[in-house]
Amino acid sequence: MAGNDIPSGEDTQVIEAFKQKKKIQLILLIPFAVIVILFFLITRGDVDNIGGLSSDVLLPPIVILMVLGLIFSFFNWRCPACKSYLGKTINPKHCHNCGVKLQ
Ligand SMILES: [Zn+2]
Repeated sequence: MAGNDIPSGEDTQVIEAFKQKKKIQLILLIPFAVIVILFFLITRGDVDNIGGLSSDVLLPPIVILMVLGLIFSFFNWRCPACKSYLGKTINPKHCHNCGVKLQ
């Protein structure tokens, strides 16, 4: 997106920090989606074993990974400037709390 104002030094830092966070968030989204799908397949009873491991064995680590993923996301997905949680938006342009430009 060309044509925007050239950001000042502080803005660039926030944008760079946000870019990193977004990258981590997107990378984590893929294994997290797989885990959530597995969770639903197992809890619905569609799958009762994967690679010889029964659902009783698979479910606890899957639940733990889901919880860890959510906790990590909760701490990662924050405004670099004011540390406010960015909510469910996957691609926010500005922080809804302090209004800093994120990208
Ligand atoms: Zn903010």
